[in-house]
Amino acid sequence: MDIDLVTIGTELLLGFTVDTNSAFAGRTLAEVGVRIARRTSIRDTPEEIRTAVGDALVRSRFVITTGGLGPTRDDVTKKVVADLFGAPLEFQDAIWEELTAKWARIGRKIPDSNRCQAEVPRGAMVLPNPRGTAPGLWLSGPLGEVVMLPGVPSEMRGLLVDQVVPRLAARSGGRAIVSRVLRTTAIPESTLATRLAQVEDSLDPLTLAYLPGLEGVDLRLTAWDMAPADAEPLLRSAAERIREIVGVNGYGEGDDDLAAVLLDRLRAKRWKLAVAESCTGGMVGQRLTDIPGSSEVFLGGVIAYHDNVKVRQLGVSPLTIERRGAVSEETVREMAAGVAAATGAEAAVAVTGIAGPGGGSDAKPVGTVWFGFSVAGRVEAERLGLPGTRADIRGRAAQYALFGIHRRLG
Ligand code: AMP
Ligand code: MG
Repeated sequence: MDIDLVTIGTELLLGFTVDTNSAFAGRTLAEVGVRIARRTSIRDTPEEIRTAVGDALVRSRFVITTGGLGPTRDDVTKKVVADLFGAPLEFQDAIWEELTAKWARIGRKIPDSNRCQAEVPRGAMVLPNPRGTAPGLWLSGPLGEVVMLPGVPSEMRGLLVDQVVPRLAARSGGRAIVSRVLRTTAIPESTLATRLAQVEDSLDPLTLAYLPGLEGVDLRLTAWDMAPADAEPLLRSAAERIREIVGVNGYGEGDDDLAAVLLDRLRAKRWKLAVAESCTGGMVGQRLTDIPGSSEVFLGGVIAYHDNVKVRQLGVSPLTIERRGAVSEETVREMAAGVAAATGAEAAVAVTGIAGPGGGSDAKPVGTVWFGFSVAGRVEAERLGLPGTRADIRGRAAQYALFGIHRRLG
């Protein structure tokens, strides 16, 4: 089933509010086989709402709107949609009493301006909204169907999940859009695509999407409009084939965090981990300590931003820094070996680089990052050229620091 989504609110177009309702609706509806074929964001004006909802009905005959159900002057969705359907607004005492009781529970008298929230287009189904005041409304007629939901994300989500999804699921006869996400890192999207070309042809009826981000490229396999029980084995076997091709660069599935995956692997070996961070300034440590229970594995480390700290705390030779520079293979090796020796950790990673925007040169442009990996006494170094802004470079460097240890655990 294909539907249209219309998100209503001037703040969405001005960019002050990010349209999270659309993202949530897309994900949630897919689970019951409903695709958003098109979505439109519009201002809070009657003309825009009339045109957008009218066009959407012509296209899809089923439209969900969010926003514009509040008690203020700019909340006009209900009135405009009721007009479109030729359904007069009728005041419902039962809704008004419920609203009055809600306000009374927080010790206040409901303002008269809220009376409009008790008005319902004739024939509409009222969707109770325990998380807020304005109920959702489901209006059907010769033009099709319009489900109106409030804009407040918590209320919109609650109504969508409790009231809309079950009714649409019943219509789709148990068919769904089911996805499975494989997480990869340290491999460019184009390289992945070349390697996966051989399986991509055989994935039908599944689709494969490449979703690049700072931590790597997520591969999303999707089965469309199928019973979940039929989709699962197809997804599982496709995921296995892809995982084999991706190899060590594929570190997890779904929401898996590389930091958590790495900590689990180190815990299984009863190893400890330490870090020596220059350009990442503690971001590797943060990624690790974001994971509950990391103290069993992660000892800590040194934020060695200034050369003096590299020398005094990590034992890097001043001569190395003078001759090779702070961003160099020799320095990063000494940093990794130094923090491993100081902490006794079996695994240690060091990072030193040029995050920019200034400080680059022809020999070491912005984005040059050296990594030192000390694993069971063996120290190795790698140089990468990372793209993006200062924040991008630091984020990518932290991820690669984790990956370098992950890969060396065999
Ligand atoms: P409304 O129901 O139009 O009065 O919306 C109430 C509040 O919900 C707005 O002030 C926004 O902060 C928020 N909101 C409205 N629409 C969206 C949306 N599409 N995504 C995220 N937040 C929204
Ligand atoms: Mg609004």
